[in-house]
Amino acid sequence: MKIVFFTTAHNSLSQRAFVELVDRGHTVIVVIASSEDVMLEAVEREHPDLIVAPMLKKVIPASIWQQHTCIIVHPGIKGDRGPSSLDWAILNACEEWGVTLLQAGAEMDAGDIWASRTFSMRGGSKSHLYRHEVTEAAIQGLLETIAKFESKTFVPEPLDYSRKDVKGCLQACMKQADRAIDWAEPSASILRKIRCADSFPGILDTVLGMQCYLYDAHEEDVLRGTPGQIIAKRDGAICRATGDGAIWITHLKQKGTDGQPSFKLPATHVLGDRLDHVQEAPLAVDQWCIGRTYREIWYEERHAVGYLHFDFYNGAMSTDQCQRLREAFLLIRRRPTKVIVLMGGTDFWSNGIHLNMIEATDDPAHESWRNIQAMNDLVRELITTESHLVISALQGTAGAGGVILALAADCVYARKGIVLHPHYKGMGNLYGSEYWTYLLPKRVGREKARELTEALLPISSRTAQQIGLLDDAFEEDAASFREHIRELAEELASSHRYEPMLEEKRQARKNDEERKPLQVYRNEELQRMWLNFFGADRSYHLARKNFVYKGLMPDRDRGDERGRTGGHVEFTAGHDAGWHYGRQPARDGYCGRASMTAEILDGRAMSAEMKAELRGEMRRFVEKQGQAPGLGIVRVGGDAASGVYSKTILRVAADVGITAHLEQLPVNTSADELRALLVQLNNDQAVHGILVQMPLPAHLSQKMVAATIASSKDIDGISSRSVGNLFLGLPSFLPSTAAAVMEILERTHMPLEGRRVVVISRSNVVGKPLGMMLLQKNATVTICHSYTTNLAALTRQADVLVAAAGRPRLVTDEMVKPGAVVIDVGINALPDGGIVGDVDFASVREVAGAITPVPGGVGPLTNVVLLKQCVQAAWQLAGEKKEWTSTACQISAYAGNDADHWHRMVATHTIVSASWEIAKPRFK
Ligand code: NAD
Repeated sequence: MKIVFFTTAHNSLSQRAFVELVDRGHTVIVVIASSEDVMLEAVEREHPDLIVAPMLKKVIPASIWQQHTCIIVHPGIKGDRGPSSLDWAILNACEEWGVTLLQAGAEMDAGDIWASRTFSMRGGSKSHLYRHEVTEAAIQGLLETIAKFESKTFVPEPLDYSRKDVKGCLQACMKQADRAIDWAEPSASILRKIRCADSFPGILDTVLGMQCYLYDAHEEDVLRGTPGQIIAKRDGAICRATGDGAIWITHLKQKGTDGQPSFKLPATHVLGDRLDHVQEAPLAVDQWCIGRTYREIWYEERHAVGYLHFDFYNGAMSTDQCQRLREAFLLIRRRPTKVIVLMGGTDFWSNGIHLNMIEATDDPAHESWRNIQAMNDLVRELITTESHLVISALQGTAGAGGVILALAADCVYARKGIVLHPHYKGMGNLYGSEYWTYLLPKRVGREKARELTEALLPISSRTAQQIGLLDDAFEEDAASFREHIRELAEELASSHRYEPMLEEKRQARKNDEERKPLQVYRNEELQRMWLNFFGADRSYHLARKNFVYKGLMPDRDRGDERGRTGGHVEFTAGHDAGWHYGRQPARDGYCGRASMTAEILDGRAMSAEMKAELRGEMRRFVEKQGQAPGLGIVRVGGDAASGVYSKTILRVAADVGITAHLEQLPVNTSADELRALLVQLNNDQAVHGILVQMPLPAHLSQKMVAATIASSKDIDGISSRSVGNLFLGLPSFLPSTAAAVMEILERTHMPLEGRRVVVISRSNVVGKPLGMMLLQKNATVTICHSYTTNLAALTRQADVLVAAAGRPRLVTDEMVKPGAVVIDVGINALPDGGIVGDVDFASVREVAGAITPVPGGVGPLTNVVLLKQCVQAAWQLAGEKKEWTSTACQISAYAGNDADHWHRMVATHTIVSASWEIAKPRFK
């Protein structure tokens, strides 16, 4: 079936539902339903069989539910209605709660019931219950509903409060007043209040004079103080005294002044020096303690097995946390145990680097760098452990570097029902490190690794096991999973297979190291990460900001990275699923768009740089050949634009030392006369490059020109040989405008591999050749043209957008993905004499990460690229097989991973080069 999800956020529940339904062969399209229009548009486009709302805060329009079955997943028992179901259930200490799947109708949560499940409540936060009991019940109910829907005979049960099993009622939206804390209350009551607001909206309170929302509370059985007093701090958390004891609070979000958004951080970080007077209450990882307390990392040991727990909030691991975990691991590795089990936390195993902590520093790029290095140091210790067998036991969700951290162990087991996100790119094209290029293909093979990292889709533990990412997945509830893991680990430690396995592991590591040292993998990955953090492309920084602020930026970032709403994010198989991992559901109305002031890619500066390089090349040529390269420009008629272009080329040629002359022919020149001139230029030893100015008068054919110019002098890449070579990925002269675009991307260190590039143009001089060049750089290319429907939907997906339609201001800010690189090729004359590009520069620069201006962007580079190819032609005609130094020409012909193909290409190249040599005399 084709199932559309309408969801406010693609959170843990909707991700789990997604993977379960995809695993069962359904097509699932996830729509972030930020408005009615978004929902209407999605239904019109997708024609779904069924609509499911796993977590929706908006009302589904009547026109949709009247025509389609829409199933609402409501986190409440039968009859419960309202937006704060689970909050009330926790606050009221209900012993049993449930999930109901009901049909959308005119009244909220009052539709006919398709399925329902109940579960026992236990002390836990709302987010914890949501990730476990609620999700399990919802998935069971959803699968039952789908089976009933497919049967076509099931009639859902109308809501009837007279029925015995309908125990719920309509409940009001819970307000901050309902949650307000009096610190003289007993701990149990305060814990319930904090937990019913976790992780959204949080309880508003005043801590040491600062207004903050409180999150993630834990029991403390020993420490005591005056109610409300902060009595200790540990691992970023604060301990606060209550009426009958104390509790730990790990995270705070400062209430933004003047409505400014803020984000959650460890409590000690938010309170800073206000906590100077508060004592640290350190607890060593292996220290036994009486009663309940809070700590992030702890260790226990039993029967030659060591268990290392690390329960980091939302699975995010800061530099400090990585370092502390590494130290703990090194400590326990010295223990005389045989097996080490890495337990992670109950809700999250790990989600990799800590984006909130990075965002909170003065220099996020630098902190990102420190954080990834600390992750790598930790992973390296796991990979190189030779004294123990190491097991990763994933009780909770894992994402990005967190998945790879697990793979560094010898055995990887997971709880059934967790969701994995083995990819990084959703976070602003982050390349990722943690030795993933070593660990992931080793487990799943090269092709699957590529698929996983490109598809950006969540996968179920079932799929992960099938593809070899996990060794096994078992038990649905966390307690049974931990018990099962204990049995496995103890069995392994006492097994006769233990020593041979350890020896096999040592040998395998030695062999791997000889084949390619770990350090090389790390260096290669970090080179790419360096570009993510410090390069011109700011996608990662914008995506991180967007993630941390949930789409709303504070004013101080406006002008740099400014917040905005509108639009929507959609996820389908193969679409960018973003960096969600269920850890920070996006807020109502979040749309995945934000704005920034783009970096201006200065074509003039790049052109000056290229000219300087070209002068050096010219000096070498003249020294060796005793003459300067010659360029023949042919212009027929009096087209004004081509006149300006000719003059510019003549000027730049003179500037760099190329001998150029213009052959100006009258508008009535015949085809024969033009052909004769071209043949003459072909044969002229002093001419190394020929450029025929377009447009030609109507009676002259461009095809004839392309067929007549000697391919050895075809410096604007218009001949069929040049085009063919480009198509095959062989060294070739390139159409100069397309090559200029590549030159800009190359000079700004724009990584193209795997990136989505949308080109608006299929012209022979721009769109088609550029598409080929980009493909050869391993980009994913979409060519749009005047018949393309819904252009904006395609351009919004582009990491790099090239506009060459010749339509003034065709591309507006709404058409651009935040942080994208926008290259404007268009040159359009306005009636008032002004020149504009195809991009509405003023609005797009507020969204894009980088943009070329018009004039001063692509234009200044086009003629320098042309002249560079003229010098290359001159070297080749002089018999020197000169390196193709133009970056745009260094296209590696799909060399990527396909060795066979590469050999075929080299063979073809030899044949083409040989035939070129044979053909050459014809043009002399
Ligand atoms: P062209 O007319 O041959 O090609 C235009 C392309 O854009 C076509 O493929 C067409 O299908 C597509 N297109 C037109 N309108 C569209 C729309 N509304 N939606 C989607 N696609 C659309 O033009 P060209 O010769 O390739 O030049 C294109 C632009 O680039 C012009 O503005 C031209 O002045 C400029 N240009 C600049 C340089 C430079 O050096 N910067 C060089 C050459 C051309």
